[in-house]
Amino acid sequence: MELRLDPELENFRQEIRGFINDVLPPDMRERQRRKVANNADVTDQLRWMRILNEHGRAVPHWPVEFGGCGWTPMQLFIFNEELYAADAPEFDWGGTHMLGPVIYSYGSPYLRERFLPMIREGQTMWAQGFSEPGSGSDLASLRTSAELVGDKYVVNGQKIWTSGAAHADWGFFLVRTDKTVKPQRGISFLIIRMDTPGVTVRQIPQINGEAHLCEVFLDNVEVPADQLIGEPGMGWTYAKFLLEHERTTSSFIYWSKRELARAKDIARGERRNGRPLSADPAIRARFARLEADLLALEWSVLRVLAHEELETPEAAAASVLKIRGSELQQEVTMLQVDLLGLKGARYFDVAPTPPPAPDEAWPDYVPGRTTVALITRAATIYGGTKQVQKNILARLAFGL
Ligand SMILES: Cc1cc2nc3c(=O)[nH]c(=O)nc-3n(C[C@H](O)[C@H](O)[C@H](O)COP(=O)(O)OP(=O)(O)OC[C@H]3O[C@@H](n4cnc5c(N)ncnc54)[C@H](O)[C@@H]3O)c2cc1C
Repeated sequence: MELRLDPELENFRQEIRGFINDVLPPDMRERQRRKVANNADVTDQLRWMRILNEHGRAVPHWPVEFGGCGWTPMQLFIFNEELYAADAPEFDWGGTHMLGPVIYSYGSPYLRERFLPMIREGQTMWAQGFSEPGSGSDLASLRTSAELVGDKYVVNGQKIWTSGAAHADWGFFLVRTDKTVKPQRGISFLIIRMDTPGVTVRQIPQINGEAHLCEVFLDNVEVPADQLIGEPGMGWTYAKFLLEHERTTSSFIYWSKRELARAKDIARGERRNGRPLSADPAIRARFARLEADLLALEWSVLRVLAHEELETPEAAAASVLKIRGSELQQEVTMLQVDLLGLKGARYFDVAPTPPPAPDEAWPDYVPGRTTVALITRAATIYGGTKQVQKNILARLAFGL
């Protein structure tokens, strides 16, 4: 069975493919292709955003009035698929996919005017300051406080696992503005500059050699009150909106498809007993199963994007996509490591400059595969753990 696009969408795909080929600088594509870990280089990310923005395509998923393209969900899907297939840098997800939609949905005209262009034009990197020690899955128990003093909030507390905070210019934080009401009702959503006096960022060394995750300490940090999004006490509602949005996109089907293609390169390049691994029936069977699973996930994503009538509420569907998407990300990266065998055990610098020249013993599909497989263990944790997603499913889909 083959999933075919109708001719109009096929034309759209060809146009997008040509567009990316024309505007993606070859040096940037090469760095991304050889990049050994998930996290793109910040300079490339912002440069790429600026290039896309010159063509009006930096935030195609936003409403047209804020700079979006007015594309159908299917067109957006194709755009993303082509970006990943071409090894384009990642978006600044915090700004473009998390905060941006919250601001244009709930922010004041002042916040929209001040921050949306900044995000769209690739001027800033953003960090998401939600989780705290002891408040991850149980986010509503967060303790970082913000007290209104005159026209400023004074913020005190600690965040943890804040991705990219060391390179971020700004962060969006959940803070407690009222301790007297039900935990969910006392939370607000505040934008903070990361270089404000009292903000300290400490990077956390990771098993894969990176230090992308951070602790953020907030010590009497003074924040202008007009940087609070929407109404005080409504932060929980906005965060739920953001997380649901995050889960719908977090199947990362495009990413997994590209990694499956990489796995095939490895299987064709590596040999055992004089034969390529791709000729081994057991390995072929593993590829066949993974390919079928990815196709099933892709169809499920498309059904949600097309707002096809589902038997379950959309939030439950988002949880299914998150669970299945993260599991398949892990399966495909583990397949790569298995195919590499002992070669996968060699340590490569996270961001060697200049990148090593490929040689026959260490083809350029080797560096980074284990590093990426290790960080991909986290896919079943961030954006809501697998167990918590299963709880949501049990409640929403089965009424348990
Ligand atoms: C790579 C990575 C990037 C991240 N980036 C960010 C970021 O940018 N910003 C940010 O704010 N946070 C970020 N996080 C934090 C992430 O959101 C939390 O790690 C996650 O919500 C889990 O919280 P926790 O780590 O406190 O674990 P806990 O909530 O303590 O959970 C520990 C274990 O208990 C299980 N558990 C907890 N509650 C239940 C329950 N009710 N039922 C069943 N099982 C349960 C969990 O599934 C898990 O297995 C990131 C995490 C990772 C790993």
